[in-house]
Amino acid sequence: MRDKILIISIQNSRYVWREDPLRQFSVLGLPVHIHENYLDWLAQRLQTNQGTHVVTINAEMTMQARKNPDLAKVINNAELVVPDGSGIVLYLRSQGKKIDRCPGIELAEQVVQIAAQQQSRIFLIGGAPNVVDTVVDGWRQKWTDIAIAGMSHGYFDDLLEQQICEQLQSSQPDLILVGLGVPRQELWIQKYRHLSPDAVWIGVGGSFDVWSGIKDRAPEWFSKNHLEWLYRLYQEPWRWRRMLSLPQFVWCVTKESLFNRQ
Ligand code: UDP
Repeated sequence: MRDKILIISIQNSRYVWREDPLRQFSVLGLPVHIHENYLDWLAQRLQTNQGTHVVTINAEMTMQARKNPDLAKVINNAELVVPDGSGIVLYLRSQGKKIDRCPGIELAEQVVQIAAQQQSRIFLIGGAPNVVDTVVDGWRQKWTDIAIAGMSHGYFDDLLEQQICEQLQSSQPDLILVGLGVPRQELWIQKYRHLSPDAVWIGVGGSFDVWSGIKDRAPEWFSKNHLEWLYRLYQEPWRWRRMLSLPQFVWCVTKESLFNRQ
């Protein structure tokens, strides 16, 4: 059991405390947390200003972490590691764990909705110039009261990076979405989370591109059949080299399972 939060509910004018645990499992030595309702867990962290780093893990990130000890360390330190990728879910199911995918983009979207409704202050970093502006325009149409603490594209030089850091420190946002790609966003969050220690920080990969409308998500059929990677390869064929990590992941977990059985 990795972490616990206490939920208070009021019954018959009395406070009732309920423990709400995250269960932790290991995939190739990295943690993956299982919870029946990640959104509730995260909303609670947001409301109670408990600093949190959310990592949305998939097979590709797992294989990167095997070669990059700094990334592995960040994943190990994250308060919440959700199973974003089908490879992770299929592996854990093969180990008898009851687990469903939690696509990071959907979880982030739902957290944004909660943040918008309760006027938690949101900061966005990442994507090409103008992408986050388009995202924020869309959100402002949906939720007129949404509180945006700041935003920046993700192609910053040292000077702009320093300005972003100063803004993060002075504005103390509640929710910080960082879309710089893996592993840069995870390392960036680890490096700078002390600037806004009570915030929920989420590495959102290419989600800004999808929310701004410049990229599509795979149709539901692909994700239901664990083939989101295939759609991505069709959309972005230049990713083929990165995707070689998928068969490598299958090979590593198979080896590990056989070894553990002996
Ligand atoms: N990106 C960025 N700065 C960079 C490199 C990339 O902001 O220096 C953004 C890029 O515009 C895209 C996202 O990071 O929006 C990476 O998306 P991708 O889908 O490749 O993420 P991953 O698969 O690595 O999670």
